[in-house]
Amino acid sequence: MLSALVLDLDDTLVDHTSAAGAAIVSWAQELGLETLNPQACWAEISAFHYARYQRSELTFAQQRRERVRGFLGRELDDQGADACFDDYLARYEAAWRAYDDVVPALRRARTAGLRVGVLTNGDAEQQRAKVDRLDLAPRIDVLVASSDLPAGKPDPTAFRHITDLLGTAPEDTLMVGDSLTDDVLGALAAGLQAVLLDRHDRHRSVDVRRISSLDELLRDPLDGTTDLDENRPMARPLTPPTPRANS
Ligand SMILES: [Mg+2]
Repeated sequence: MLSALVLDLDDTLVDHTSAAGAAIVSWAQELGLETLNPQACWAEISAFHYARYQRSELTFAQQRRERVRGFLGRELDDQGADACFDDYLARYEAAWRAYDDVVPALRRARTAGLRVGVLTNGDAEQQRAKVDRLDLAPRIDVLVASSDLPAGKPDPTAFRHITDLLGTAPEDTLMVGDSLTDDVLGALAAGLQAVLLDRHDRHRSVDVRRISSLDELLRDPLDGTTDLDENRPMARPLTPPTPRANS
């Protein structure tokens, strides 16, 4: 019986990709940069250094500085890099938005008597700021960020940590997120139920439970309680996972 819902944060509850894209375009314009595709350039540089942060090769602050240096193609001291990143960050934070389907889904979870958790690969302080700013915190029982853990998703210990905090058994917990590798395959390997949130229809060929909107969650027959086949084979990712910087 389902007793808890655990959600990823970036690009599941919060439209991180749009916020980061809008922020970098605005910032590049102000700086007068003629980067051909600033969003793609920033995303590539950010993914590279954020992955280094997630492997504990850089601190959270260091990965921000390296992203700025890479994007601007300049040698900057730490103070200068921090100042530049702050210019970007103010724009990124101003662009944070929750998807329209989030609050109704969290309401249905409450109505169904489920505990609600958020499990995110990111910096705890920043991720908590997101849920606070978007007024989601009152609807969430537990938020766990990878910066507070020995390892983030898809490591099984991350999922077990949040189910322990929620006081639920893994098999009674449903994980929902936009990353096939981190959210879905990781959760399944840790013994949770899992649904892939595929907002942009990018994963048609994978053999996992998939929804295109949180509006499909906790509704019959996709209510996460009756339609799950625990013996369903798990598909492998079609492409190698690309880390995305949460900021
Ligand atoms: Mg995500």
